[in-house]
Amino acid sequence: MVNLNDLQNELIQGQKLSMQGSDQRRAPEKIAIPYLLSARKGLKEFVKQNEDNSLAWRLLSQAEEYLLNYNEAINCLQKVIELGGKDRKDRKDLRRLVMLKENGRQWQELNISPEQLELLGRYLEQKVESSGCNHTLTHTKEWLDENIPKNKKSKVIKSIQNQGGFCDCEVLMNVID
Ligand SMILES: [Zn+2]
Repeated sequence: MVNLNDLQNELIQGQKLSMQGSDQRRAPEKIAIPYLLSARKGLKEFVKQNEDNSLAWRLLSQAEEYLLNYNEAINCLQKVIELGGKDRKDRKDLRRLVMLKENGRQWQELNISPEQLELLGRYLEQKVESSGCNHTLTHTKEWLDENIPKNKKSKVIKSIQNQGGFCDCEVLMNVID
């Protein structure tokens, strides 16, 4: 049984290590990513079992935000606001929602579309299955060379790494899954 308190502590630890400022978001420090990914995984499982636990949705929103997944962060925060009911809309939460949308726009250009991400995933699954992962982003870069404009490539790689994809198998596990 997952304990929400433990997940919250893990998230706080990840946030401390991430060295992100409170308003000007930037990519989390590499050392923080395993904590953030682990907290996010636990929280995702937790909300599946406890759909109306608004604290869990709030924490999950934060985990997504720290990992710069603003769309997911927005979805989770909307869930928090819905659970609060019509009469109890927290103005702080609404302001936070606006902030997430703003940050999301700033980061959008760094990311490839969900459709492209899925195609990359299929490509990597094949490659990793047939030749394994050599602890580099070789196959990811091959795919990007074919499918992403050259001038966007390094930004996309950076955003993939920000989400815990430092080699092909990690891209499959942390970024695409
Ligand atoms: Zn690997």
